[in-house]
Amino acid sequence: MEDWKWQMQNQVNTLEKLEEYIKVTEEEADAIRNCETRWGTTPYFVSLMDKENPECPIRRQVIPSKHENVNEFGIENYLVYKENRDNHEQRPDTIARQYKDRIAMTITNHCGIYCRHCFRKELVVDKSMQLRFDVDEGLEWVRQHPELREVLITGGDPFLLPDDQIEYIIRKLREVPHIEMIRFGSRLPIVLPQRITPGLKKVLGQYHKVPIWVNTQCNHAKEITERTAQAIWDLLTCGVNVGNQAVLMKGINDDEHSFQQLHQKLLSIRIRPYYVFYLEPAPGIDHFRTPVEKGAELIRDTLRGHTSGLAQPMYVIATNIGKVPLMPDYYIKEKNEKEYILQNHRGETTTLPNIDDQGCTGLPCFKKEFA
Ligand SMILES: *Cc1c(COP(=O)(O)O)cnc(C)c1O
Ligand code: SF4
Repeated sequence: MEDWKWQMQNQVNTLEKLEEYIKVTEEEADAIRNCETRWGTTPYFVSLMDKENPECPIRRQVIPSKHENVNEFGIENYLVYKENRDNHEQRPDTIARQYKDRIAMTITNHCGIYCRHCFRKELVVDKSMQLRFDVDEGLEWVRQHPELREVLITGGDPFLLPDDQIEYIIRKLREVPHIEMIRFGSRLPIVLPQRITPGLKKVLGQYHKVPIWVNTQCNHAKEITERTAQAIWDLLTCGVNVGNQAVLMKGINDDEHSFQQLHQKLLSIRIRPYYVFYLEPAPGIDHFRTPVEKGAELIRDTLRGHTSGLAQPMYVIATNIGKVPLMPDYYIKEKNEKEYILQNHRGETTTLPNIDDQGCTGLPCFKKEFA
């Protein structure tokens, strides 16, 4: 159980294996038999499934569904579109760029789970999209772009690479004078916490002026165990900062209780909520789709003011032009030349002076207008 390589070699990815853990429904069994893509995850993560209830959020993220064949809102060749892979700027396959000062570097198509909602399905799940994972070519491109400050290493799951390869990438990036921080996107702290081994800690850890940040993906409080807490502690104690990027999904975390509990439980194991994503318009995932407003409403009704300020993620949609915030705007009730009327989470209002570009000359002016 504790050996992460054993976990990967013994992935639960057949109906027979799944039946050792849960009572598979006829509908789930049918979807598995008709599924043409990869599915499955680690025995550890499957062991967190509810044995009886097919609505279990972990079951729904892992077990294929007949709805995956339906596509209403998804964009075909989604990744090429989203990552601007057909535009004029020539870049290595590993590099996706939307911003001036940071890029995403995709270094593997292997993953510890084939999330049914994955927007990188073409690359990770179906593997219909092939990329050349030439790390040295990517590193050379980074070296030649001095405007970059940060490299976000992603996949698939980059922590599935052997320690020495992760160490190599970190070391090479830290040799680039303009790189100030390194970020990893990995779901392994959630689906395979056993991966945070003493060896990996050695690779990621120790003080260095170019810090390492890890963003993981946890979508429901049920995904968090004592084992997760230990893995996060291990990352933090070697100097790695850990954030979360959740995906808002119908029937998984779009109810008030699940949404609030997720964010509170993340903090209780020291993970800082970073983003909640609106489900991207990739093909075959419409059955998880909520209205766009849903995430903003949930933040308004369950997080902002209702619980710790540290539990507040930014609600965004990741698009082909970068991430766009979709936060609730309930707080400005009214705005006129003199003042803003602000509203809090209880519906109470207060005012704030509306200062123009000339600014305010000081306290007397404030007092005159608003006392
Ligand atoms: C998401 C993403 C980033 C990181 O964006 P942040 O807002 O800094 O988290 C960078 N590059 C690409 C291509 C991305 O998709
Ligand atoms: S962990 Fe990320 S890359 Fe892997 S299947 Fe899930 S969403 Fe896709």
